[in-house]
Amino acid sequence: MTISVLPKRDELGVKGGQLYIDGVWTDASDGGTWTHKNPATNEEVTTFAVGSAEDVDRAMKAARKAFDEGPWPRMNARDRKAILQRLVGLIYDHKDELAQLQTLDNAIPIAFNSMYQVGAEVTADVFDHHAGWIDKINGDTIPHYTGNELVTLTFREPVGVVAAIIPWNAPLFLFAQKVAPALATGCTVIVKPSEHAALAILRLTEIIEEVGLPPGVLNVIPGPGASTGEALITHPGVDKISFTGSRAVGQHILSVSGDGLKRVSLELGGKSASVNFPDAPDIGLAAMTAMGMVSMGMAGQGCVIQSRALVDKTIYDEFLSAAESLIPMVQYGDPFSYETTSAPLINPRQLDRVMGYIASGQESGARLVAGGDRPGGDLSAGNYVNPTLFADVDNSWPIAREEIFGPVLSVIPFADEDEAIRIANDSPYGLGAGVYTSDIKRAFRVAKAIRAGTIGVNEYAVAPNAPFGGYKTSGLGREGGWPAIEAFTELKTVFVGLQ
Ligand code: NAP
Ligand code: MG
Repeated sequence: MTISVLPKRDELGVKGGQLYIDGVWTDASDGGTWTHKNPATNEEVTTFAVGSAEDVDRAMKAARKAFDEGPWPRMNARDRKAILQRLVGLIYDHKDELAQLQTLDNAIPIAFNSMYQVGAEVTADVFDHHAGWIDKINGDTIPHYTGNELVTLTFREPVGVVAAIIPWNAPLFLFAQKVAPALATGCTVIVKPSEHAALAILRLTEIIEEVGLPPGVLNVIPGPGASTGEALITHPGVDKISFTGSRAVGQHILSVSGDGLKRVSLELGGKSASVNFPDAPDIGLAAMTAMGMVSMGMAGQGCVIQSRALVDKTIYDEFLSAAESLIPMVQYGDPFSYETTSAPLINPRQLDRVMGYIASGQESGARLVAGGDRPGGDLSAGNYVNPTLFADVDNSWPIAREEIFGPVLSVIPFADEDEAIRIANDSPYGLGAGVYTSDIKRAFRVAKAIRAGTIGVNEYAVAPNAPFGGYKTSGLGREGGWPAIEAFTELKTVFVGLQ
């Protein structure tokens, strides 16, 4: 049976797509388009408009006007909150359609794209969480310090026009992580989805249109990073850039934003470690979690994935065989079948990159326990890589230091807790980590010692109300919870003389 995503495309009624600028759907000024291919089959799904520098400039004028003169930043809390709360219900009403469109975008199987953490439900909940802050974005009153009597207080005000740049791996959730706090605080936004995953976001934008945001408050311009993205991040009209993607592009954004001293938030991925101790509640389960995290669902294409498994020498063989036993659960195939459990890589370029890392692991001297190759037959049309398990990895090798973004787990032995912490921290990244132990004191010791933004003890989660972000080169700033509100606001101090 040959796999095809085209029947699902027709059932969903997907036809083309335009740019959303100043409350109007429009083609690109230069007629530019992109033909989207689904990574499971590389079939052409549809062609949609991609923005030129001129379109970015038009969106900027609209977003600036909506911010500088429009009602959105000036709206009372009750009205702004009501608009976002209406949106929450609408996203829930369309959750199945949005999840399917996300699968049409990135071929992450529908069974996974319907799951809470990456699907439309968490997207709705992120809007709900941030809508809840709208009437609580308070300043402070500050004690009078010296001299004539003064009332001193702070106003927390929206940062301005936001450029939100999102990748292809969880477009709905990542759209919400940026757009929800931006709208909640009264900012206006220009979103650049990756052209590799724009369909779910274009549909979500149509849904947002129904709640009646003033024109120019939200603009959506898919397009390539090198042209559309570059025009956006270098535009002098931007007050803040919020970016999720690769470290290289993040570093580039930081350097070009120096010009206008734009505010910058970066979420840049990682090389997170799971630290597996002999007193883990269930060693087999910990090992299967480690292998499953890199190979099920997104096939390792997630920033928080724990792609280094650090394992105590006394449980090393047991861990490796349990990790290997997970592999038959990885089922590739029609991404719209609920039997499919894992994804292809987003495009042939990422496929080459991941195969390059697998070759590098073998050159370095890692022991290949499983995988390392590509599936054949029907699957050869898609960008698939078999789940790959490397043992006896040295933490200095490229496969242990660089973000592979594919179904590859590197297992590294350790002798004791100190060595485990040292290896976990010996990384340029610091996004997340897992600690598997039944000893509460050890759990806290290791959670405190690892320099990373999120630590999971025997479990891991991402939640709308929990701050998320990276230490070291994993990023700058936090999304989620109150820190997100701070990241989209400026603080103004006002002195009022009473004499
Ligand atoms: P990427 O190039 O950083 O893409 C992320 C987003 O930034 C996309 O919307 C991209 O557009 C855009 N972009 C690229 N260059 C830009 C520029 N000069 N100015 C403004 N925007 C720009 O990542 P990728 O190429 O898709 O993937 C490469 C690697 O990045 C992965 O292997 C992985 O290591 C990492 N990554 C991390 C995350 C994460 O969740 N932290 C997500 C995705 C990728 P285009 O789609 O056109 O490139
Ligand atoms: Mg790119």
